[in-house]
Amino acid sequence: MKIPPLDLKRQYASIKNEIDSAIQNVLNHGGFVLGPEVKELESKLAEYCNTKNGVGVASGTDALLLSLMVAGIKPGDEVITSTFTFFATAGVISRLGAKPVFVDIDPDTFNIDPELIEKAVTPKTRAIIPVHLYGQSAEMDEIVAAAKKHDIPIIEDAAQAVGSTYKGKKAGSFGLTGCFSFYPTKNLGGYGDGGFISTDDDETADLLRRLRLHGARPKYFHSIIGINSRLDSMQAAALLVKLKHLPEWHEARRTRARHYDNLLSDIDQVKTPFVRDYNYHIYHQYTILAEKRDALKEYLKSKDIGCEIYYPVPMHLQECFKYLGYAKGSMPAAEKASEMALSLPIFPELTDREQDYIAETIKEFYKA
Ligand SMILES: *Cc1c(COP(=O)(O)O)cnc(C)c1O
Repeated sequence: MKIPPLDLKRQYASIKNEIDSAIQNVLNHGGFVLGPEVKELESKLAEYCNTKNGVGVASGTDALLLSLMVAGIKPGDEVITSTFTFFATAGVISRLGAKPVFVDIDPDTFNIDPELIEKAVTPKTRAIIPVHLYGQSAEMDEIVAAAKKHDIPIIEDAAQAVGSTYKGKKAGSFGLTGCFSFYPTKNLGGYGDGGFISTDDDETADLLRRLRLHGARPKYFHSIIGINSRLDSMQAAALLVKLKHLPEWHEARRTRARHYDNLLSDIDQVKTPFVRDYNYHIYHQYTILAEKRDALKEYLKSKDIGCEIYYPVPMHLQECFKYLGYAKGSMPAAEKASEMALSLPIFPELTDREQDYIAETIKEFYKA
């Protein structure tokens, strides 16, 4: 049996007719960039996120970068974020000449530890970027309270969390903006790059729409400097089809996750994901903590089971951030996660039989 970490071919097979006709439609009308499908997606996805506005952009990374630009981040400013995240979260801070201030995680959820945020705030702090890692929301009550107290905007990195909720409220609806990615492997993925920003604030949405078009208004007149970051219509057309299926796909992933929880519960060397009871986890990843993680990964790969490490090096220990001066051992929870985390295959079309095989193989490994 060969099991990939994610199988987009199975997904495509289940929606082929809808996707093909949506793409054909774009080819026929010819409005390839920021066309009618983009407008429709912006309004439907904003509604799904429970925010007033939505702005389509070229990637999740750009969603973060543009959000920081709107928040006025400039050289010398400090931005607090989790050390345990995908590089984009930290990279955009440096890209604007600002200083990333990394914070350790809650070892149970892998999300930023809200108590440490308070300690990281200085007079130079200009934004906080919580990351809803693996599809589970960060502790937003505490994070919002800290941000309010110091009057600092929140920019949510919701790239892995479209549709996840915290106490019934959608990821991306807490901050000044919520940043989403349509990278093909995300729960709502396109057939190429794409991104999206949710916001309740009309002025912010208006500024984002300008900034994604080089800051122009009207066309060819520039009173501010933006970037080129547009969403194309083919992506939006495909994403509109997928958005309709998203709630049922989330449920299927959750069912898969429960099945893993049961299958893996009696393996002492493995810790299954911890979910706070007020969180709706969308399982972008199903990530276990495993003893002898690297050897287990090699063993699973040798048995044709796809699995990945998200992420092997926390941001504070990345070579490019050496200049920030963080020492090894300074963020023990994230460092331990980087040594033990392993994400198993999870997608709506995964079968019971495949999961049984994966669990059996893990048991076999620890018996040997
Ligand atoms: C995917 C991802 C991004 C970046 O999105 P792209 O569309 O690949 O630019 C940012 N943050 C996190 C946590 C991600 O998983």
